This record gives sequence, C-alpha cells and structure tokens, in this order.
Amino acid sequence: QWIFLGDQFVKKEDAVVSVYDHGFLYGDGVFEGIRVYNGNIFKLDEHLNRLYDSAQSIMLRVPYTKEELQQIIVDTVRKNNLDSAYIRVVVSRGPGNLGLDPRHCSNPRLIVIAEQLALYPKELYERGIRVASVPSRRNRPDVLSPQIKSLNYLNNILVKMEANLTGVDEALMLNDQGYVTEGSADNIFIIKNGTIYTPPVYLGALEGITRNAIIDLAKANGYEIKESPFTRHDVYIADEVFLTGTAVEVIAVIDVDGRKIANGKPGPITNHLLEDFRRIVTIDGVQ
Ligand code: PLP
Repeated sequence: QWIFLGDQFVKKEDAVVSVYDHGFLYGDGVFEGIRVYNGNIFKLDEHLNRLYDSAQSIMLRVPYTKEELQQIIVDTVRKNNLDSAYIRVVVSRGPGNLGLDPRHCSNPRLIVIAEQLALYPKELYERGIRVASVPSRRNRPDVLSPQIKSLNYLNNILVKMEANLTGVDEALMLNDQGYVTEGSADNIFIIKNGTIYTPPVYLGALEGITRNAIIDLAKANGYEIKESPFTRHDVYIADEVFLTGTAVEVIAVIDVDGRKIANGKPGPITNHLLEDFRRIVTIDGVQ
C-alpha cells in the first residue's frame, strides 16, 4: 500500500510523521473522507471545496492547488489499484516547536491514504443500528464552527465512547439547547407521515456531502423534505430514522434510547433512498 506523504508516495510502513507535527501535538489541521465506488471518486469537487474552506477558516495553507490535489488523490487511488475505497486526505500545520503558535510551522503537510473501509459489519447495514443520546453536547457554532473538519475530533470521540458505554452502535448528539444535531460523524434524517426531516446545519451539524446527496435524491424522487429543528421526542416517534456519512454511507436506525423505531426494521423510504444512493455513487463523480 502506497501513501502520499508530503511530496511523494511512500510505503505504508514508512509513512510516519514528526512528533513535532502540530497535527499530532494539537490537532491543528483539517481533513476529508472521500469514497471511491467502482473507480468513481464520489463528489470529489465538493470534498475538495470543503477541505479548502476548512483550511481557509483556520488560516492553514494547503501546499497544493485544488487541481494538483485532485490529481494526487486520483494518483493515490490508481497507485493502490483500488476500485472501491475510502480516501483520507489530511493537511496538518506541519512540524513546529512545542508552543501552540502556528507561525513556527512553515511546512504544512499533506497526507493522502486510500484503503478499504467498512464502518460496520454487513449484518448491521441490513438489520439497522441502535443509537443513544449522550451527555456531551455539540460545540456551539459561534464558538467553533462544525463546518470546519478539523483534526480535533475529541468532542466526536467522546460522544462515540459515551454511546459505546451504553452498549449501542452510535451516538445521537444534541446541541446545548437539546435539539438533535447529528451522530459522531454522520448526519441524521427522520421520516414522519411520509415527510423527511433533517436538522438545519445552523443548529450545529456538519453540512454533510452525503446529506446533501440524499436531500437531492429525496427531492428527485418526489418526497417532501424539510430542514427543520427536532428533539429526541420527534426521533422516538418517527416512522423511520437513518444516518448518512462518507464513512458510514447510509444506514437505518432501528432503536433510539431503547425506543424501538416503528416495527424495529429499516423502513421503506430509507430502503428506497439507500437503493438509489447505491445507484448514483458509481456515476456521479470523477472517474
Ligand atoms: N458529521 C460529522 C461530524 C462528520 O465528521 C461527518 C463526516 O464527514 C459527517 C457528519 C458526514 O459528512 P459527509 O457526508 O460529508 O461525510
């Protein structure tokens, strides 16, 4: 397996970064996760735009132009002979000294990894997962924007651990007002009486690229879809619940805080969107 590190491809065993890298010391950097389906890099432009937006927001210089980075990503997939894969693009502030000040880091570092990834076992994709709302809250958007995909994912890791402790598969993250925002690394949708709802991103959710693809698919299929705030109660009484994200893809939720959702099986609209999603991912992107 070949990893793009800095300015060249290196073998996986040799892909190591400095202990002085501020990505490691402080989580100072940004990242993207991108999927490849049948040799097609899904929504590459959207991911590149979001990566550069994240970098712009934290005043981090990406050491390549978008066109160059696009080529590096395509080359990484090809060099590893991958037809279907998950790509992780990381830009860290690079090596500096032990102080926080990024002015001492003059060489931001690019890493591109491409490999197979299945977030959950296949049975869970068929059966659906269980989620639980957790004590940790999504950080406030006015303090640190959830739109920045920074290397500092401690908040998301904590909610995942809290969910693990209760014995379920994934966390349901609320904001400081108690509105449902998203999962640990995925967006949430609920369906009630045929209408699909997802939280507006201003509540404190990442504007997921899979989320947007599902919104487009739902509209194209004639479903009514609304971005509006909802609480845990609305999730408990929903007819269907599902999560979306690049890593998780689309997965049904069949239990929330011990409440079985409808009959405890993935619902028809979820299955319909999932099928459609599987169809478009192989055609909608960079070949
Ligand atoms: N929410 C968070 C916090 C994430 O890290 C991710 C993963 O990227 C998502 C949602 C899903 O976004 P996307 O569909 O763009 O992968």
